[in-house]
Amino acid sequence: MCGIFGIVGHAEASNLTYLGLHALQHRGQESAGIVSTDGNLLRAHRQMGLVADIFDAPTLANLPGQAAIGHVRYSTAGGSALKNAQPLFVQYAGGQCAIAHNGNLVNAAELKEQLEADGAIFQSDADTEVILHLLARSKQPTFEQKLVEALRRVKGAYSLLVLTENKLVAVRDPHGIRPLVLGRMKEGAYVLASETTALDLIEADLVRELEPGELLVIENGVMRTSKPLVEPPRLARCIFEHVYFARPDSSVFGNSVYEVRKQMGRQLAIEHPAEADLVIAVPDSGVAAAIGFSQQSGIPYDVGLIRSHYVGRTFIEPQQSIRHFGVKLKLSAVRQVLKGKRVVVVDDSIVRGTTSRKIVKMIKAAGAVEVHLRISSPPTKWPCYYGIDTPSRQELIAATHTAEEIAKYVTADSLGYITLDGLGRAVGDPERGSFCTACFSGEYLIGDFGGAKDAEVTKLTA
Ligand code: SF4
Repeated sequence: MCGIFGIVGHAEASNLTYLGLHALQHRGQESAGIVSTDGNLLRAHRQMGLVADIFDAPTLANLPGQAAIGHVRYSTAGGSALKNAQPLFVQYAGGQCAIAHNGNLVNAAELKEQLEADGAIFQSDADTEVILHLLARSKQPTFEQKLVEALRRVKGAYSLLVLTENKLVAVRDPHGIRPLVLGRMKEGAYVLASETTALDLIEADLVRELEPGELLVIENGVMRTSKPLVEPPRLARCIFEHVYFARPDSSVFGNSVYEVRKQMGRQLAIEHPAEADLVIAVPDSGVAAAIGFSQQSGIPYDVGLIRSHYVGRTFIEPQQSIRHFGVKLKLSAVRQVLKGKRVVVVDDSIVRGTTSRKIVKMIKAAGAVEVHLRISSPPTKWPCYYGIDTPSRQELIAATHTAEEIAKYVTADSLGYITLDGLGRAVGDPERGSFCTACFSGEYLIGDFGGAKDAEVTKLTA
């Protein structure tokens, strides 16, 4: 999960990129970077940490120019280290070039091996660097043609922003896995962002979502578009963007994330009703689905869990003896709301089960007499290879346990997951023909790192 932002045609390009990255911070908190161009020279600043901690007025003043791209990173391919922070920035025979990537390439390791055998020296572990090497080696005459040639060799998920001295290029992979939208400011500047919430913050109007396989170039104030990458494959938009990743005030793949999540909650109430006194959410991502559940079931919604927004990534993992305080740092139960109640708790997913177990126990410790856990996504049984940091299959509790077994482990009185069909209906595509659902279904439409999905899993006793 990463977020990308780009702007061209504005005197405050790097300041606006800073604001855009702020709005996208939920998509990655490990590192952030901005590269700007003044038409002749690219300048970069990348650092580990949060956007607000990395950039200040003097740093942004050192990133002059009318165009900039930025990136917030949550490491998926490549480890968490400064060398992998993006945008990646290189000088090659054709000039300077920076690239910001959201997604994961499934054949990067194979391509890297070929390139290294051919003498290439990689500076990072990021799969994105493969694209730069392929681009630099291309014999095509123009920059766009070089980029297209490079992208025709990679497989996987990519929403990209590429900046040269005098142009900004935006590309979305032919499957449309990760989102990317185009906006425009009143002053005329073009803006590109992973989510519409970044446009809202800087008061840019949404023009449209980039189409899968589209390549958009903005140069000298002129925008041109083409679709050189469509073959045309099946769409595979990440359904989990709607379940969890995107901010609820964003519109993703043309639909309001908030409305879709509410619809998931309604569907969940139809599929897994519960006899209860109140519905609460695991904040923040469970809130809209919990409201939908409440509206459909007629069971009142209340705030039973409060999230602390001040738990930074600077938190040092405590010793084993006090480790169980971890969840309590992030969430606390409202005793006055929960005491003596039969509670429906709505969350977006269960990964390992350990957090859900702590949450259920916390709610019971606050006086709830029954806890009915409802999950607004189907059981997560498979890892994601397309840009989301999920644990291995072995660690996913639903890969080896039934819903009844998981309910027992998390100490819930009942557990219900939305069905895949129900999720499809909530996102407006009952057949799910335009979505990737691999983490629930195991149907990897564009490869899985050479059969990793078939790796053996052993059932661990909970
Ligand atoms: S596997 Fe899941 S998280 Fe990954 S792209 Fe597909 S739907 Fe999204």
